[in-house]
Amino acid sequence: MPHQEYYKMLSPEFKYVRAFCTEDDIAMAESIRKFVNKEIMPHRQDLEGGWHRDEQLALETQHALYAKLADLGVTKSNLPTEHGGLGLSPVVRQMVNEEISRGDIGLGTMVGKIHWIVSFMVAAKRDDLLKEFADRITGKDSWTACVAITEPTGGANLEDPAQQYRTIRTIARQDGDDYVINGHKIWPGPSGPAEHFQSKDLKGHLGYWTVATTDPEKGEEGVGLFHIPPDAKGMNFSKPYEKMGFCWTDENVDIYFDDVRIPKKYRIDTEPGQGSNLVRAYVIGLGRLAGAARLVGLSQAVLEIVLNATKHREIVGMPQRERSLFANYIGEMFRFIDIARQYYLSVTWQVMHPEIYGDHWSHEMIAKYSAARSFSADCAHFVCNRGMEMMGSYGYAYEFNLEKYMRDYKIVQMWLGGAQRDRLDIAQGLYGPFTWGGFDDWSKKQRLAK
Ligand SMILES: Cc1cc2nc3c(=O)[nH]c(=O)nc-3n(C[C@H](O)[C@H](O)[C@H](O)COP(=O)(O)OP(=O)(O)OC[C@H]3O[C@@H](n4cnc5c(N)ncnc54)[C@H](O)[C@@H]3O)c2cc1C
Repeated sequence: MPHQEYYKMLSPEFKYVRAFCTEDDIAMAESIRKFVNKEIMPHRQDLEGGWHRDEQLALETQHALYAKLADLGVTKSNLPTEHGGLGLSPVVRQMVNEEISRGDIGLGTMVGKIHWIVSFMVAAKRDDLLKEFADRITGKDSWTACVAITEPTGGANLEDPAQQYRTIRTIARQDGDDYVINGHKIWPGPSGPAEHFQSKDLKGHLGYWTVATTDPEKGEEGVGLFHIPPDAKGMNFSKPYEKMGFCWTDENVDIYFDDVRIPKKYRIDTEPGQGSNLVRAYVIGLGRLAGAARLVGLSQAVLEIVLNATKHREIVGMPQRERSLFANYIGEMFRFIDIARQYYLSVTWQVMHPEIYGDHWSHEMIAKYSAARSFSADCAHFVCNRGMEMMGSYGYAYEFNLEKYMRDYKIVQMWLGGAQRDRLDIAQGLYGPFTWGGFDDWSKKQRLAK
């Protein structure tokens, strides 16, 4: 089956609205689209080691493609120009996210990890740390990074504003000029022993931006974001989880912190109360918004697969896509995708205008990030399901890629608190903040159980 036909309505030129971005931004998206068509599309299956999950093939493909993306400048796109980055706007970052995820959402997420950690340091005005990491982010080598949030006490609990980070059990204790970290994170990725992230095409790991608290009882006052170098003493890793998608592009493990000592400067937030805003807005909220863009890219890829398949499949002597029932489904798929795109772009534009829309960590803005992610996820769910139904068994076959997109979209809907948490945060933006009845009792029980 021939692939990658051109559809004007799905091209960067036509789909990205000039109200939110410039011609240069669109040119960048177009160059990434071309790269994705040429370099990523033919290797989508290799990124998970093919049907037989060949780890070596998966890692070699991933590292090589990631290095090429770094060469294109995407990993330094939101690093400020004074540190050698491209200093591009959040909107372009999102367009880059969308375009790469059209090829592979795992690779899009890898690139997004660098955008994510840079955004923390920019938001906290940590020029010293940006300077420290800039050489690696802008150099000729490629690096990966990880953000560690989820804990055994529940990912969604940690992301519930009403619980004010009181469920966190990763503790950062100040000791002179250092912090000493103890605790247990589950699922952060990509993570593992530092040497696992060194190859011909991947130079190394930049480390772990870790959510921890100085004292759970202090709630929002105690929480902070800490950078832990990848080879810090006292870090132990479990074996990677075996899972439905993101097999190697996001290797997820448990991390155990056992008296991990880091210099005080590696606490990213520096002012009282800043840690809470940083985690709420930049770790959780904008992480969700980035997911929205990636899910749109993934959904577009599926629509393209379906457009192609239904052009060549005949039903009673006519191309399937020209039969009104199926044309109708395709119209619905496009409608969902374009609305999801225009919404995430609009919210991203609002992020660029806090003077109008308010602080990035306000309940109202968190509601919008959550609406964008959950709507894009519903879009991906609809498009993957309907697409597979239209393609019949070919949709279910590994060879035609759709089933991989279907496996991959699900976790982007569920991470960072998940679909239910998104809805609750939207309600909270509308008529919150609210607390859970009985939370105080529950919290007390947790304390007694310590
Ligand atoms: C591929 C992959 C990559 C990941 N990457 C990372 C990473 O890089 N860093 C990291 O820290 N974590 C990562 N995670 C973990 C992920 O973010 C969490 O699993 C997720 O946030 C949900 O947390 P949980 O699994 O603890 O679910 P729980 O908190 O136990 O929640 C279970 C379900 O209940 C719902 N729920 C919970 N509380 C409520 C409530 N009050 N009201 C309504 N519904 C509720 C949730 O939405 C969810 O559906 C990753 C996971 C995977 C599989």
